[in-house]
Amino acid sequence: MSETSDAKELLLLTSSLQRHLQRRARVGITRVARENQTERKPAPGKTAASSTGSSPDLFSPGAPPVVAGSLEELRAAIGDCRRCKLCSGRTNLVFGVGNPRAKLMFVGEGPGRDEDLQGEPFVGRAGQLLPDIITKGIGLRREDVYIANVVKCRPPDNRDPEPDEVAACEPFLKKQIDLIGPEIIVALGRFAVQTLLQSKMPITKLRGNWHSYHGIKLMPTFHPAYLLRNPADKKLVWEDIKKVITEMRREDR
Ligand code: URA
Repeated sequence: MSETSDAKELLLLTSSLQRHLQRRARVGITRVARENQTERKPAPGKTAASSTGSSPDLFSPGAPPVVAGSLEELRAAIGDCRRCKLCSGRTNLVFGVGNPRAKLMFVGEGPGRDEDLQGEPFVGRAGQLLPDIITKGIGLRREDVYIANVVKCRPPDNRDPEPDEVAACEPFLKKQIDLIGPEIIVALGRFAVQTLLQSKMPITKLRGNWHSYHGIKLMPTFHPAYLLRNPADKKLVWEDIKKVITEMRREDR
């Protein structure tokens, strides 16, 4: 590689890092966590998660502390989770996938059968329209965004996660959001939308309008599985996604 292209790459990296830090600063994160600390030994009496990283759980002072300096550390801290009853039926815990510095994050409800089997969110029939939204709609690759769920283990028969399950798992989602620092969250479907916004309003009223999730712009839209049953509403999701695209372009300026 030539010196000029090295310099260009460095410039791109610096400006991307600068934008990332600005986004984090906007939501009140002013300290930079150290990466690759998974090897560090926990202090006596502490779990790996509570002994590393610098920032406490930002979003809810009442929640159990989830302190991790990177997504790898957070995943390690979750471990072979037994914090709620969903653990008994799972094949794989579905942590989340994507770019750890994504500007855009999608949050669904919880893994379905295929996701449970493969350990990855939105890989099955229920989620098959999400890749289309990301690639054909927004023009990004799946690996450019981050995809996660409110709960990380599959609820039996795809029922809604129960309050104790959400209470046990949501701190991990919050910590993921804190570490990634997205500009925009797209919440997929009633359950994710109502959980993140702590609202009982119907998704039909919430979707299509910008909301704030602890200072991060949140766009609620219908769940891809709902669109399989109600294809006529794809145009509403497209309207929501167009707003997301406009906002991303505005942020990039
Ligand atoms: N539905 C969700 O909400 N999440 C998944 O990962 C798959 C289906």
